[in-house]
Amino acid sequence: MIQQLIWVLSIVLIAIAAYLLSYIQFRRMIAQQTKQMIALMKAEDIDNMKIGDIYSQADSAFSDLERAALYLRKKYLRLRRQSQEERTGYETVFSGLKEGIVTVDQNLRIISFNESFMSFFNWAPIKEQSSYFLHDVIRDPQVISTFKKSFEKNEILKNEVDVFQLFVTPLPSRNENELWCLGVFYNLSEIRKTEKIRIDFVANASHEMRTPLTVIKGYSELLKEKFSGRPDEMALLEPILQSTDQMSDLMDELLNLSKVEMGRSLVKTRLSTNAVTEDVLREVENLLQLREKKVEVDFQVAEFAAAEEAVRQILRNLLINAIKYSGDASEIKVTWLKTPTHVQMRVKDNGPGIPKEHQDRIFERFYRVDKGRTRDQGGFGLGLALVKHHMLNHGGTVKLISESGAGSEFICEFPV
Ligand code: ADP
Repeated sequence: MIQQLIWVLSIVLIAIAAYLLSYIQFRRMIAQQTKQMIALMKAEDIDNMKIGDIYSQADSAFSDLERAALYLRKKYLRLRRQSQEERTGYETVFSGLKEGIVTVDQNLRIISFNESFMSFFNWAPIKEQSSYFLHDVIRDPQVISTFKKSFEKNEILKNEVDVFQLFVTPLPSRNENELWCLGVFYNLSEIRKTEKIRIDFVANASHEMRTPLTVIKGYSELLKEKFSGRPDEMALLEPILQSTDQMSDLMDELLNLSKVEMGRSLVKTRLSTNAVTEDVLREVENLLQLREKKVEVDFQVAEFAAAEEAVRQILRNLLINAIKYSGDASEIKVTWLKTPTHVQMRVKDNGPGIPKEHQDRIFERFYRVDKGRTRDQGGFGLGLALVKHHMLNHGGTVKLISESGAGSEFICEFPV
């Protein structure tokens, strides 16, 4: 009986020992496999690894796990490489941009910026200081208020400040509830320099050409007197006289436009809308009669501050255009009115209008809708460019509202 008991006990003990041994073996194996699996999940140089490098037995339960882990690790490393490359590319472009770029949060705390931004504002962050605000870098209140307004209105704003053209664009931030603003500063100094060279060149060239033109004109007039009553000679002389007059008008217009483009500071006075309009109407009276046109005037504003000669030139050009280009239509309307922020001068005709495709370019120098016809009308395509620059000098704008066949209305807005 005791012997039997000892046998049973021995068997039980052997079984327990065998179980314990295999359990320890199993744990060791699991620990080793897990270690290898973790090493695999962390491996950087994984491109040369293949399934089976860790588990030689293809049918082992771990080999499926290895396959999945290897696949995931390779995929993760590929994505990480791609995103690093994208980031490096983005950073290279960002820092290499000639435009100054800055991103700020709603408190105008600077989130990111590029090299050009630092060099434009002669600023570099100090290592010890972790955060900066826009006003630490840029003192100009116009810049700060453009950013603030862009946040308030949640819209893209444009402003010209000092030598910069600034665009501020609201963007959703990483945290979706918050808004950031991206500011892009274009440095206009180079453009302004070239623009000035061009304006000076045109002004000098037209000035220099006036002297020989005056000589040609003088001698042609002399010849005209000499040849009077001699039709053959007069027929030869007439085109010379006409072209000289045309050239001299062109030089005058170019010179005048160059002066206006130089944008010298304006001398504003309080001017009477009535007096200016009546003066200009008197100047164009002959043309009005010749083309059988009538002008109706509506004065909703009596006076405002502006440069009087500029306003005369604007109104004269717009009226002459309305008379010349309105075809058979006979009514022209001039309206002076006031909005909360501006005085508007509107010149409207009900002629053939200006087709949409020309409207963007109509204010460019020498641009004419129908080159053949307008040259016959004596236009060089400089009148509307002059209007635009006079308005810019006033800090105002000129707009065109026109439909083909439905007349044109030019609206000049003077800030008050
Ligand atoms: P221009 O000296 O040729 O009149 P502008 O700059 O004043 O030059 O005008 C440019 C062109 O715009 C004109 O040649 C004409 O084709 C067109 N234009 C201007 N005003 C009007 C108008 N009221 N109606 C139709 N076309 C117009």
